[in-house]
Amino acid sequence: MTRWLEQQAAVRERRGLRRSPEVRSPESSSGGDAVLDLSSNDYLGLASDPRLAEAACEAVRRWGAGATSSRLVAGTTGLHLELEEELARFTGMEAGLVFSSGYLANVGLVTALGGPRTLIVADEHCHASLIDGFRLARSRVEGFRHNDVDDAARLLSDRALCGKSEPRALIAVESIYSVWGDAAPLASLLELAVEHDAMLLIDEAHSLGVSGGDRHEGHGAAAGTALAGHPNVVLTATLSKSLGSQGGAVLGSALLREHLLNRARSFIFDTALAPASVAAALAAVRIIDAEPWRPAAVRANAARLAAGLRIATTPAAGAVQSAPMPDAETAVKASRAARAAGIRVGCFRPPSVPDGVSRLRLTARATLTPDEIDYACATLRGILEETP
Ligand code: PMP
Repeated sequence: MTRWLEQQAAVRERRGLRRSPEVRSPESSSGGDAVLDLSSNDYLGLASDPRLAEAACEAVRRWGAGATSSRLVAGTTGLHLELEEELARFTGMEAGLVFSSGYLANVGLVTALGGPRTLIVADEHCHASLIDGFRLARSRVEGFRHNDVDDAARLLSDRALCGKSEPRALIAVESIYSVWGDAAPLASLLELAVEHDAMLLIDEAHSLGVSGGDRHEGHGAAAGTALAGHPNVVLTATLSKSLGSQGGAVLGSALLREHLLNRARSFIFDTALAPASVAAALAAVRIIDAEPWRPAAVRANAARLAAGLRIATTPAAGAVQSAPMPDAETAVKASRAARAAGIRVGCFRPPSVPDGVSRLRLTARATLTPDEIDYACATLRGILEETP
């Protein structure tokens, strides 16, 4: 009965595809374990910020450790509503709805907008949480070549030409892609969405807290542009990367919020996000507004990392740098060598890579020092030069 499981485990082992988590020490949160972390998504260094810890503790004392039930039963606190309003303001959208994770926000949104009457046109590098939403949506799904707006246009036009057209369309992209780290051509995608009367879903997981500028530092890629508040645009976000907490959100119109509240199954049938996570995310949003140096520092550190690595990586639009490896075994070896030299890097292999190419994924964080980045660059250059 379990023989096939053994066989699959053996194949994974042989191909360098076996994954197992490294157990993190509590000291690593304060930088006290002597490991230089270039793997986490804690881009702004807020996950271990005492202000977030205090906000979470206060929420536990006030509301308890768990949310007790789903949002529509008794799981909604004033904190949840406050966070939704704050995230909407932050991103420039009309309304927000908080989910238990970014994964569930994507699944809930896509399934609530999808169905047989909606064509989904998605960038081929879309995150697994979007893909799982597509699978559940019962829509026709067409993938377009990464960042190729003409290819997306062709798929949307085919819909009109071939006559079997669905009346609705959804275009799905990420503002900064999670593995390659490059940016989507959002302005052209918005034009395309308007031209075809489609919704444009933008997953802001890796740009919230990182992208923005002027009065919108860290507010994401859409904030302060024509995308913010546009009726054809809907954003999704995670609270677990730059915001240093846990949870996810959809940001869009009040009408869309109302639709999701009634139709998104991953919202309706899931226990509400714990008040501690809500309070920590709320504290993080306010810190980003008060400390705009953090997003700016992430981008400056990413640029220093890119310049110092001197390897052919995809141009980094935010915190993520990506170094392609010849195969999974080499990627594992290189990441182990980095770890032995005191640097933790992400090692991404199939099925976690959109193009099937294994790679080291390096993330810049606001709190890295120039010395740390230079040490990491010199060490990683040495390791990468030795890889075939
Ligand atoms: N979208 C993207 C692009 C992501 O990278 C992630 C997290 N890896 C998610 C969604 C899911 O967010 P969460 O971890 O909050 O479930």
